[in-house]
Amino acid sequence: MTAANLTIHLNAIAANWRALDALSESAVETAAVIKADAYGLGVSEVAKPLFDAGARSFFVATAEEGVKLYAAVGAKAKIYVFSGQMAYDNPLYYDFPLIPMLNSTEQVKRYLASENREGFGLQLDTGMNRLGMEADELAAALELLGDRKPELVISHLACADEPDHPMNAAQLAEFRRMTDGKGWRRSLAATGGILLGPEFHFDLCRPGIGLYGGAPFTDAEPVVTLSIPVIQTRTVKTGESVGYGAHWVAERHAVIATLAAGYADGILRATGENPPVLYAGDTPCPLVGRVSMDLLTVDVTALETVPDSLELMNRHQTVDDLANAAGTIGYEILTSLGARYKRRYSGA
Ligand SMILES: *Cc1c(COP(=O)(O)O)cnc(C)c1O
Repeated sequence: MTAANLTIHLNAIAANWRALDALSESAVETAAVIKADAYGLGVSEVAKPLFDAGARSFFVATAEEGVKLYAAVGAKAKIYVFSGQMAYDNPLYYDFPLIPMLNSTEQVKRYLASENREGFGLQLDTGMNRLGMEADELAAALELLGDRKPELVISHLACADEPDHPMNAAQLAEFRRMTDGKGWRRSLAATGGILLGPEFHFDLCRPGIGLYGGAPFTDAEPVVTLSIPVIQTRTVKTGESVGYGAHWVAERHAVIATLAAGYADGILRATGENPPVLYAGDTPCPLVGRVSMDLLTVDVTALETVPDSLELMNRHQTVDDLANAAGTIGYEILTSLGARYKRRYSGA
């Protein structure tokens, strides 16, 4: 059985970075968020094209991810770690030039007691209540830090993908209240925040999902093509069912192709509730029946000849289309992409 092919278009990632960079003034730095193995696309392959496009600051979720990134881009880039300094990370911070975003006075103390040779950043909570320090804790942290200055101070917006949400203005005001006049380099905007406009940009923007072709950056170039081999085809008569639960029943004579990928490959089972299509060239063929662990069934009656494989994601059908079909977000589709796919990188 041939594995499904996941093609990752590195030139599209670089183009998306440039397009997002162009949305802020030239004095504003544009970084790249590449946590979770570059949103499932492969940090070792994705980091270099982003660096070549101009990204010089990268954000990861954990110190371990930072080490992997360091192997790809080396010491010329700054590597910030969102989860900050955890005790189990101390050796990595000692060995590699990683910059922890300190999230609490506990992390500040740990940083000061450790032998990190790099600087540090601070993460502030302005209303999301996930990571970072609120105003009181920040004051205590600054006292502990004394003369030491943060390289960057960030906070994160909870509702940036909803431009009219009152949280955006409230978090912006709180961020200003906590940071104005301090002389710190500041960052508030991820992909959604970049699109909210210049007052959200500060000194550095840190897009993730938009680089990888996902909403809310609707102008993004699609980054992935997923092509799934056909294992066999059969004809079914009116009234025959296809797949588990006999969920789909043919209303007419139909040709059904069975394809070699399923929910174990990250094609969420919920996708079948509001089924998308698969493409044979430009011809859409509906997904029918439930998604199985390793298999999909597709109505290919419209095709004169059935190709060796059909595409589930491409220019016609993006990660967000698939996300909508499954009732989720593009982030989850990307980070669920299966380990069995043969990953190919184009346009490096
Ligand atoms: C994931 C993340 C980002 C990037 O967000 P996108 O919506 O993917 O652009 C930026 N900042 C923080 C703190 C994050 O957790």
